[in-house]
Amino acid sequence: MSPAQDRPAPGAAFSADVEDYFQAEALRAHCPREAWASAEDRTEASTDRLLEILASRAIRGTFFILGWTASRHPGLVRRIAAAGHEVASHGSDHELIYRQSPDAFRDDVRRARRLLQDLSGQEVIGYRAPSYTIVARTRWALPILAEEGYRYDSSIFPIARRRYGIPGAPRMPHRIALAGGGTIAEFPLPTVRFGPVNVPLTGGAYLRLLPWRYQLWAVRRRIGAGSPFVLNVHPWELDPDQPRFPVGWRTRWTHYHNLDRAEARLKALLGEGTFGTLAEVLGRLGLLTDPAGTGPIDVGR
Ligand SMILES: [Zn+2]
Repeated sequence: MSPAQDRPAPGAAFSADVEDYFQAEALRAHCPREAWASAEDRTEASTDRLLEILASRAIRGTFFILGWTASRHPGLVRRIAAAGHEVASHGSDHELIYRQSPDAFRDDVRRARRLLQDLSGQEVIGYRAPSYTIVARTRWALPILAEEGYRYDSSIFPIARRRYGIPGAPRMPHRIALAGGGTIAEFPLPTVRFGPVNVPLTGGAYLRLLPWRYQLWAVRRRIGAGSPFVLNVHPWELDPDQPRFPVGWRTRWTHYHNLDRAEARLKALLGEGTFGTLAEVLGRLGLLTDPAGTGPIDVGR
């Protein structure tokens, strides 16, 4: 790939949460953590598929990799880094933050960061929480992230949902003042504002679930306005042949609906604009600071 300086400045960020199909929170009752090691492992095939799609478009994005996955697939982490993508952290064990104590959370994000740095050779500065669970009652997690060496978070979804969301949170990338001093950059998940309500724009399950014409309209509008957003996918969403669990109607909808359409939709959206890593876009916006928090830094990857 060409050096960073030869590429156009990315208007939007691309990210993937690297985990397997059985690790989604909605499937916990059917595949609890103790069963993960014996589930059919499809991580490498689906993530390699995503890497191919990005390579064919010369797109570099941010891969928020689960520590549990990285420890079982060290070669995959190295391939992601070698392809020029940003390696970031999805924590170690995919436990929702409000089910962890602050000490357990610190240990989880510390272990993930160390492992990912060792495997990738990159400094890991980005974090995304399992199921976007930085919510009003888990804001205590943000200063811990900063103390552990993370320089940005991308976990806050400014919507109201059963498991996640801070409906009144800023919708655009910004810096958050931390209790106890300092700040951390935040790249929120993307929304569209309709009157008093924020509605998801695309990405994750919403890439499959929201009406396609709406997503295309919203993405084009956002790109046309030069307004940065992050497009997020899970590699397992590009794997329509994954084993299916006998789930109830709600999970059948959120986890399995339109799995056979996700890849075509992703490719279409990637053709709508220029995409880069979250660190690149935050850097371009002047929102990333050096570890001491003294000012913007250059991010060349
Ligand atoms: Zn996840």
